[in-house]
Amino acid sequence: MKFPLTCRLTDLWSYTGLPLRIGAAEPRSDGVDRLGGTGSAQAAPGPGTLTLKAPARHTGSMDCALPSPVPPWRATVLTLYPEMFPGHLGLSLSGDALARGIWALDAHDIRAHGLGRHRAVDDTPAGGGAGMVLRCDVLAAAIDAAVPAGDPRPRLLMSPRGRPLTQGRVRALSEGPGLVLVCGRFEGVDERVIAGRGLEEVSIGDYVLSGGEPAAMIVLDACVRLLPGVMGRAESGVEESFESGRLEYPHYTRPRDWEGRAIPEVLMGGNHAAIRRWREAESLRLTRERRPDLLPDEA
Ligand code: SAH
Repeated sequence: MKFPLTCRLTDLWSYTGLPLRIGAAEPRSDGVDRLGGTGSAQAAPGPGTLTLKAPARHTGSMDCALPSPVPPWRATVLTLYPEMFPGHLGLSLSGDALARGIWALDAHDIRAHGLGRHRAVDDTPAGGGAGMVLRCDVLAAAIDAAVPAGDPRPRLLMSPRGRPLTQGRVRALSEGPGLVLVCGRFEGVDERVIAGRGLEEVSIGDYVLSGGEPAAMIVLDACVRLLPGVMGRAESGVEESFESGRLEYPHYTRPRDWEGRAIPEVLMGGNHAAIRRWREAESLRLTRERRPDLLPDEA
């Protein structure tokens, strides 16, 4: 059976237990982007490390891409499933930004630091009970190997017990140097590594996932789209839901009439003050209806 190149490389990599580096496109002297198809890979300077580049789907917009002059916003992910990355982050806005070097991603396999012949990473819970717990010594070794001492990036542990992620926090994180994201599995991680490695628990919502990887991808997606140069227009992130503490107003586009439903007249009149007032009123109406908790003054 034949696998696509990216698949073979990530499979190969996952058995090596070595970090998977996913980063920027290298500039070509002729200015032509050399990414194409489903991605490409090459040996990195470090022994045994593979560099995987984001697949370039929007080749038109990539042709004139130059490497970023500033160091990229860097995400380091600790996971038992590094082959899940970059996943959807390798496509669309975040994928283009990855290929353009606005941000960089390295995913590290916690199992590379597992114990014994079977590289065990988990054990039964002290005190009894169902499930398994990720060992503190194994996770700490993985963090220490992936994150240099003194690295200023916040270290987040994906956890349903954590403080819920907000747009305000996302914005603050996107303005920093990057993130270290630890993905839990099983029943969670041994409590001692949380304090021992200065991890901050962050939740993406009041529900339980089977692993922290989708949560980490959501955190990264939300942060990366706010990095300078990722979204087309600087203001496109400013008017959105939560940025003003309210939900966003409804959107419409052509056709003007559709199945008996017309675009609200005010949006078609060209009176910008009236449009602004309508949008503010709609934004308030939707927030009151759906998320009154966002309007504490009215509680
Ligand atoms: N026993 C735990 C749930 C473990 S779920 C509890 O009841 O709190 C396994 C892993 O999935 C967690 O360690 C965490 O990394 C991730 N996870 C699950 N739900 C999440 C959420 N809402 N937000 C962030 N991470 C989550």
